[in-house]
Amino acid sequence: MADGMSLSGFMDWIVDRNPGETEFHQAVYEVARNVVPFVQEYPVYAKIRVLERMAEPDRVISFRVVWADDSNELHVNRGYCVQFNNSIGPYKGGIRFHPSVNQSVLKFLGFEQTLKNSLTGLPMGGGKGGADFDPKGRSQHEIMKFCQSFMTELYRHIGATIDVPAGDIGVGAREIGYMFGQYKRLTNAFEGVLTGKGLEYGGSLLRPEATGYGAVYFLEDMLGHRGDAIDGKRAAISGSGNVACHAAEAILQHGGRPVTLSDSSGFVHDPAGITQEKLDWVKEHKKQRGNRISAYVDQFPGAEFRSGARPWGVPCEVALPCATQNELLADDAGQLLQNGCIAVSEGANMPCTAEAVDAFQEARICFAPGKASNAGGVAMSGLEMSQNAARLYRDENDLAGALRTIMRDIHAACVRHGEAGGGYVDYVKGANIAGFKKVADAMLAFGVV
Ligand code: NDP
Repeated sequence: MADGMSLSGFMDWIVDRNPGETEFHQAVYEVARNVVPFVQEYPVYAKIRVLERMAEPDRVISFRVVWADDSNELHVNRGYCVQFNNSIGPYKGGIRFHPSVNQSVLKFLGFEQTLKNSLTGLPMGGGKGGADFDPKGRSQHEIMKFCQSFMTELYRHIGATIDVPAGDIGVGAREIGYMFGQYKRLTNAFEGVLTGKGLEYGGSLLRPEATGYGAVYFLEDMLGHRGDAIDGKRAAISGSGNVACHAAEAILQHGGRPVTLSDSSGFVHDPAGITQEKLDWVKEHKKQRGNRISAYVDQFPGAEFRSGARPWGVPCEVALPCATQNELLADDAGQLLQNGCIAVSEGANMPCTAEAVDAFQEARICFAPGKASNAGGVAMSGLEMSQNAARLYRDENDLAGALRTIMRDIHAACVRHGEAGGGYVDYVKGANIAGFKKVADAMLAFGVV
């Protein structure tokens, strides 16, 4: 941030140099709204132009991924490796396989990841990767071929001290296994180069659960700060993948009642509550990418499926958007507020638009941005890295305690930097300032690099 530059001046600069990258502009704006005034207050950061430097990735690599399907037909996809900022540790972020993947989406995710990883308190920088490959309807063999071809280029750019990717949309334990196998084959090195691995070959207990559980821990802490609790509350949850299912599981463990799940075809509403047994069925059903959540209503009478709709019109006290970016708009926020929702914890990355966030904050309900509330996943990945480096495994109780402590510490940091008067906490501001400060101080220490 140059001396005297305004928020609008900064954003004009960002939009000019990143044309058409709307998701990236949105993510930068959501941070700059809080950080520009902070930087103006502390000229030491303005002088070294730290915000401009943080909004420019260290590098963006894009590459061709060619693979043959089961009929021997060839396909060409585009892969990416976005290495955003490694000031406080090796680049780290998930790999996403989804047709909507492009440079803008991965830059927004890498930028957010830098601040999120800083909030965990662990030594991890920010990055992201992925491809515009659609795993839906692909056989296991085709997915393996794609993962191998993708890693055949990616392996040149990553390493246990360089860049350590994990999973994200479309990439779970199975895909991580195929990519780890190919990395090992190409390099002849067994090292913790990916996280979210299977337990047999260096994975960590609780990694699959950590993002969804962590988002619910953060919700618990926000409500606790107001003298309230999850017990007895109905939760509207979107998505039916890794994050959504584990968020629903944690809501149950806290005495709440998950009432919705969704996918890109629509959502199911089960007013009686999605029990652990029903959730186990969903997890098994959605293992096959392409299976639809609509099949839930055939299994569990009493539930209804609404095609092409999102779950935010359903009566609930808490909401956890856990599917994808920009899936909760201003109108949805209005409906949630009208129905008495008092807290929103983002499980996905940037699921709420800026207008939706404004509506929640104006109504002074609890709102947790994903960079704080979904940081449990990358925190557990950080603990997987440290287990791999030390060549040991930590037990479940130990890791569960560590995850709970990390989420509590993130909440406390947000409260510290986000007190907004009258007992209200602006968690967006708190997360942005706390995450920014650590990275900025490291960049300050390095000089002009
Ligand atoms: P999964 O692939 O396991 O699940 C994604 C879910 O979101 C699926 O139900 C999918 O439906 C739905 N979805 C995807 N795109 C859309 C869309 N355009 N509209 C509606 N629904 C959609 O991914 P994860 O659960 O791992 O990730 C979910 C979110 O959480 C992402 O934003 C991710 O970045 C974020 N996140 C994930 C972490 C992790 O540890 N996995 C860590 C931190 C954040 P369908 O089956 O129809 O595609």
